[in-house]
Parts: sequence; C-alpha cells; structure tokens
Amino acid sequence: MKLRILLALLGTTLTSQLTAQTTTVSGTKPTETVTAGAAKPADGKAAVVEDDSIVITPFRSVTIPAAKTTKTFQLAKLNKPLAAETTKELQRLFSAYTLQSIVDGSPAGFSKATGYITSINYSLLQDLGDNRFIAKAAWPAAGPNDVLAAGVDAWAILLFDHPAKVGDTGKITGMHAGTAAILLTAKFAPLEGKRLTLRREAFVECATLEDSPASLQKLIDSINRGADVSVTTNEFIPCKKCGGLGFIRHTVKGQLLDNRLPCTGCDGAKTVVLPTETKIVP
Ligand SMILES: [Zn+2]
Repeated sequence: MKLRILLALLGTTLTSQLTAQTTTVSGTKPTETVTAGAAKPADGKAAVVEDDSIVITPFRSVTIPAAKTTKTFQLAKLNKPLAAETTKELQRLFSAYTLQSIVDGSPAGFSKATGYITSINYSLLQDLGDNRFIAKAAWPAAGPNDVLAAGVDAWAILLFDHPAKVGDTGKITGMHAGTAAILLTAKFAPLEGKRLTLRREAFVECATLEDSPASLQKLIDSINRGADVSVTTNEFIPCKKCGGLGFIRHTVKGQLLDNRLPCTGCDGAKTVVLPTETKIVP
C-alpha cells in the first residue's frame, strides 16, 4: 500500500518535472518573440533561473528472486507420526512469514511484502516533501543470501508513515522499495548547496505482522477458510557435487592417499542454499 504511495510519489514527481520541462520548452518561443520584453537582460543573455526542484525517479526496482523449488505444509498432518509438519517447523515458517508481510488497508489486513524488510536507524538530513526524507541511515542485510546488502552510515531515501522533521533520529521497520535516483540541491554537509544526482536505496516505513501465538492462530484460521498463503525460506540441502563432503577426492598416481580439493559447488560448506517456497494448506 505504502509502496504504491512511494511509487505514486515518484511517478507524480517525475510527471510534474516533465510537465515543468515541457512548459519551459514551449514557454521559450514567446519569450524569444517578445524581444523588447523587460525581463530580457540588455546584453541578450537569457536570465539564469535558480532551479531548486527535487526530482526522484526509480533507478533500480526491487527484484525478489524466484524460489527454486516448492513444497507443501499440510496443517491436517501437524504432529502426526513421521510427518514433516511439526509445531516447531510451523513456527519457523510463520516467523519468516511475518517478515514477508506488511500490515495495510487490504481486506485481509495485510499483504505480501514486495521488498525485503529490515530495521533502519536514521537521522534525517533533508526534507524532500510528501513525508519523504534524505537520511543518514544504517540497516542490517536482509533477504536470502543478504540480497539487500547492509547499509552502514549510508544516505537513504525514507518515506515515513508518521510526521517527521529534519534533525529527527530514530528507528523504523522499512520495506526496501528499490534504488532511486534523486536530483536535488543538497541542504546538508558536506554537499551543502551542491546540485547533484544521488542514487540511493529507498525504504517505505511499514508495520509487519506480529510474531505471536495469537497471530499464528489467526493465520491458521484464515488458511482453513481458504486463504492462499505461502512463505519463502532458505533451505540448506547437501551439496550434490561433492555428496555433502565439502571436498572432492582426486587420486594421485604413486601416492597412497587421495588428494582432497575443496568442492567448488559449495566452497567446502557441504551444503548449498535452496530458496524454497512453502505453501501452507489446510
Ligand atoms: Zn560441495
């Protein structure tokens, strides 16, 4: 929901900027025809217009890698002998699920996150309007294999859900909205007064589902009523290339012992990560 707002804001800004440019272009002609106009400097040079507008455009959108395999968790089999469906496994899946969902105004009360969710410590540096800010921020890596790299002392673009002002510091849960390019006249050190384009990670403040027994029960009830629920997790499976040994044996002529070379499939880790989508069904 809020992501849509951010994208809409990005879109609006882009459109208004394009409109502004169009106006400027179309406005050039009449100015040229009115050569005797008082606005035109005597030396014939065009007046330099101070452009302080802020333009935010999407630079790189979020792409959540598709799961490589799928499996099913059947609630009816929960804790049955030999079943993989255990309370512990359900809790693990649910914990992952809460971090892949954002609370919003949709009929279910929440929807699937479209970007990785992380916690962000921020200090606001510049107000970009519409509750968007440039912030000095730090966040831990998120997503399978840390797809979203951690930010340390990084400038980021934040869209808040609450009123804020320059100088505020705090911590929010944010959903990564991709990388945005922002053209602005900086109003913070050490870029103060410079007009430049920054490419920065953009985050939307959001609320995630509560990881509690009551919240899990609510989800189970909605699945039993037909809700379509799936969660993506990183599963570690034995490396096929080395058979889960972490090394590959090479016989060396004239030597009694094999030569062991680290497996290139798993870098000696014995396991590989397999992003897995688990559908939870009644
Ligand atoms: Zn291996």
